[in-house]
Amino acid sequence: MKNTLNTSEFIPAPKSSELKSCPFCGSNDVAAWWSAPDRFHLREQVYRLRRCSSCSLVWQYDPPLPEAMTAHYGRNYHKTISKNGDASLERWKQRQARVLPHRSSGALLDLGCSSGAFLEVFKGGPWDLYGIEIDPIQAETARAKGANVFTGDALDAPFAPESFDVITCFHVLEHHYQPRELMQKVWEWLKPGGVFFLVLPNIDSWEACLFRSYWFGLEMPRHLFHFSPKSLQQVSSSIGFDVARLMTPADSYMEHSIRYIFDDLVQGLGFSRVSLSEGQQASLPLKVIRKAFRLSFELVFRHAASLAGRGASIEAVFKKTLSGQASDFSGSNLQVHLNREK
Ligand SMILES: [Zn+2]
Repeated sequence: MKNTLNTSEFIPAPKSSELKSCPFCGSNDVAAWWSAPDRFHLREQVYRLRRCSSCSLVWQYDPPLPEAMTAHYGRNYHKTISKNGDASLERWKQRQARVLPHRSSGALLDLGCSSGAFLEVFKGGPWDLYGIEIDPIQAETARAKGANVFTGDALDAPFAPESFDVITCFHVLEHHYQPRELMQKVWEWLKPGGVFFLVLPNIDSWEACLFRSYWFGLEMPRHLFHFSPKSLQQVSSSIGFDVARLMTPADSYMEHSIRYIFDDLVQGLGFSRVSLSEGQQASLPLKVIRKAFRLSFELVFRHAASLAGRGASIEAVFKKTLSGQASDFSGSNLQVHLNREK
């Protein structure tokens, strides 16, 4: 099937700002970095990243405006996320097992809960289940599974301070326009001693260094900020969290990253392509090759990267100190970023 780029979906990014400093640490040691289009939808507009040499934060400095971002998600995107979530019971149970040593009951909030697959694992136990989800259809599905779900942006959620024992956030923080403010909100919503458990891509991973603009974890333009263990730890500490756990598990986005390189090669040869968002079924020979790859090179690579602290994702458990004292929070630098020229 030929890829047809719908020009009505081709939304021009706003004119880039002249931001010279890091939106998190304020350092002026900032440089232009990789550029990439939306390879998931096979669109052509290129988005540019900048990197702070001081804290290693990477961010899009001319992202689509929030009101234009809906077009970069779309039904196929939400369907893929929901489908993957519902098919990942084992993964959700593993993540539940990482929560339980810290808390065995209480109020649990999942940020960006999608169809509620993770919350469902806790159903029937001594938990009050809450979610925040921006997509109304996914939010309704999560409600049907027994969770209280706020539909909308997390910063607009009406939860009172010190409401939750555990807040989880799986591959969500990097999508938010104000991740530091969101983390600050999490800190306020947690009870003293409460736990913030998050997972997100690692921009300092071996995979990211290897695939660069083809790395699946870039997810342009939906990923607005890209964290490393260093930048994540720095921002969490600046808000007042204690780090209970910070590691890079043996995850991998290698298959999709290779697929993106393949897409470009196919196009270069003049053939049409089918985007990853369209979810084409793999042929039998391809399935065999994929299985062999997963059990050989990819297996060794992702475990070696994880051991070296350079795995494809970051898994972190932060705790709100028992005294509940936050350090001073200033979002002024971030505001500079968000108030860019339109
Ligand atoms: Zn910085």
